[in-house]
Amino acid sequence: MGKTVLIVYAHQCPRSFNAAACSTAVQALKDRGCKVYISDLYAMNFKPTATAEDIKGDLKNPEHFDYGDETMAAWKEGRLSEDITAEQQKVKEADLIIFQFPLYWFNVPAILKGWIDRVFAQGFAFSLQNMYDNGIFKAKKAILSFTTEGMESMYLPDGINGDINVTLWPLQNGVLNFCGFQVLAPQIFWAVAHSPPEVRTAMLDSWRERLMDIWTEKPLTFASTNLFNLTFPGGFRLHPEAKEKLNALPYGITTAHHLGKPVPPNNQTKVSEK
Ligand SMILES: Cc1cc2nc3c(=O)[nH]c(=O)nc-3n(C[C@H](O)[C@H](O)[C@H](O)COP(=O)(O)OP(=O)(O)OC[C@H]3O[C@@H](n4cnc5c(N)ncnc54)[C@H](O)[C@@H]3O)c2cc1C
Repeated sequence: MGKTVLIVYAHQCPRSFNAAACSTAVQALKDRGCKVYISDLYAMNFKPTATAEDIKGDLKNPEHFDYGDETMAAWKEGRLSEDITAEQQKVKEADLIIFQFPLYWFNVPAILKGWIDRVFAQGFAFSLQNMYDNGIFKAKKAILSFTTEGMESMYLPDGINGDINVTLWPLQNGVLNFCGFQVLAPQIFWAVAHSPPEVRTAMLDSWRERLMDIWTEKPLTFASTNLFNLTFPGGFRLHPEAKEKLNALPYGITTAHHLGKPVPPNNQTKVSEK
């Protein structure tokens, strides 16, 4: 059966490199028989702010508005605004979500952050019972595909911007892995504006080639929730036995679960050999 892909695309200009990366993906995936949805956020004038207008009908507690509580209740009762519901429907159908964007302040542009805040509502995308490897979207894959101004060497552990693996952690672990996605290695188009045209063309060619085999790619590795005591008295911390075992290893578990040791190199950019 053909797969479904959602591309959440955040660039203002159809002549940009991001637009080219987006249309390269659309073409490559359609050639492979995939159904492709594009959420072109600027063209849609997508509302990025998480506000009470996202909820239809009466608020549960208008005196003390709590976006998380109100949207969870509204999701359960089918009272989220139409723009959110339409995006959630595409997410539900998608086997793979590609986030295509220029890196803004080591993160996604605000319009895309707003999409994440509003579309990945509690109940729909996560709950305390369903998070990380028990996450709601564990059958789905996700990729961050983005461009930078800075060159790759600036994002090495000894580069001026610091390790790209650290930059990627909040999005890849805090959003995607948290919601259960199998996170595929990011597609990074380094320093596009400073690269000669033939290098940019080669970048798009290798993106196209990668997409041909995207369904067989192994995801990145994150810490299993089995390692942690998932109770409030236990503080959601590593089980002492797990900690003892891991103490013998030369590296921490992940970029952030480093246990005071060296972080595993390229933990957020390359698939582990193990
Ligand atoms: C608010 C803000 C914050 C930022 N923060 C960061 C940051 O934290 N870190 C960082 O590194 N950068 C940062 N940047 C820079 C930003 O990431 C880059 O400007 C962006 O990634 C460049 O991508 P683009 O698609 O806009 O490139 P463009 O400038 O649109 O394209 C680059 C070149 O590719 C060409 N091109 C277009 N189509 C094709 C094609 N089909 N084939 C070949 N070439 C093509 C274009 O003509 C152009 O010459 C920031 C920028 C802003 C505005």
